[in-house]
Amino acid sequence: MRPKAEDLGGGLWSLPVPIPGNPLAYTLVYALESPRGPVLVDAGWEHEDAWDALTDGLATFGMEVADVHGVVVTHHHPDHAGLAGRVREASGAWIAMHRADAEIVRAFRSMVEQDAGRTWIADSLRRAGADDGDLADHPRRRHIDPPAQPDRELEDGDLVGLPARRLRAIWTPGHSPGHLCLHLEDAGRVFTGDHVLPRITPHIGLYPYDRADTDPLGDFLASLARVGDLAVDEVLPAHQFRFHDLAARTRAIAAHHETRLAELAALLGDEPRTLWRLTSALGWREPWPAMSLQSRQMAAAEAAAHLRVLERRGQARRTPGETLAYTTA
Ligand SMILES: [Zn+2]
Ligand SMILES: [Zn+2]
Repeated sequence: MRPKAEDLGGGLWSLPVPIPGNPLAYTLVYALESPRGPVLVDAGWEHEDAWDALTDGLATFGMEVADVHGVVVTHHHPDHAGLAGRVREASGAWIAMHRADAEIVRAFRSMVEQDAGRTWIADSLRRAGADDGDLADHPRRRHIDPPAQPDRELEDGDLVGLPARRLRAIWTPGHSPGHLCLHLEDAGRVFTGDHVLPRITPHIGLYPYDRADTDPLGDFLASLARVGDLAVDEVLPAHQFRFHDLAARTRAIAAHHETRLAELAALLGDEPRTLWRLTSALGWREPWPAMSLQSRQMAAAEAAAHLRVLERRGQARRTPGETLAYTTA
């Protein structure tokens, strides 16, 4: 059930917008009052129902989408950035996101232009150890348009240009390389996007699986520690519901990943096992045989992110060669 649009007081509104066909069900878009018009934190999925919910939600509180002054996007995912372009078209608003996610938007747009996405996915699956049987099940992914190119790129610590308010960008890479939490310093509140959610943990994946220069789970754990200390009265995530104890929640999410790291470490031995085999041996919400190829592909990216941390901690070693396989270190 999608909650109703809500006045949170202090010139802040919660506007839940649906994500049709997705178990997350809705994105919590927030509107912040400013003398130049409301500024949105995230915009929601690009879909007619989401657009209607956003415009109706604003109208409930006497605002129009044409009045929107700006959209700050916590990260480039379509349930957050999807509608930002349409809001900009309707209002002339600026769109802001972190530089690292702006780079991904540019790369995504050029990949779509070259129609290179599907070959890239099949190649990376094969190298992870998936066989032809796995790949035969390769569905045509639902087409998602790349998000709009932002007008402003934010860096860690920047104040978002929001007249008469203090909204500070906190760079929290992990779930996406340019994920931002936004600290509303004048109100003791923080918008956590997908970084800290009350009951679920965000997807942390390594893409491509053998990319050498990144450690998204390591980044994520460091980003959890960064926001865990913030003195705030209320946490405003992009899914589920608002909550209060940010420190406790960040500790619980970190503990969850330590458990996963230990599970994965226990699967390693002297004989190399491929990423695909290791992933299929881990516990997932759905049993491995029932998972779609797309779910398996995301699961492998999560396992790869955990293996990267184990490598860094000296508990796993990648076997030399084209196929991705690991042993204990
Ligand atoms: Zn996300
Ligand atoms: Zn999300």
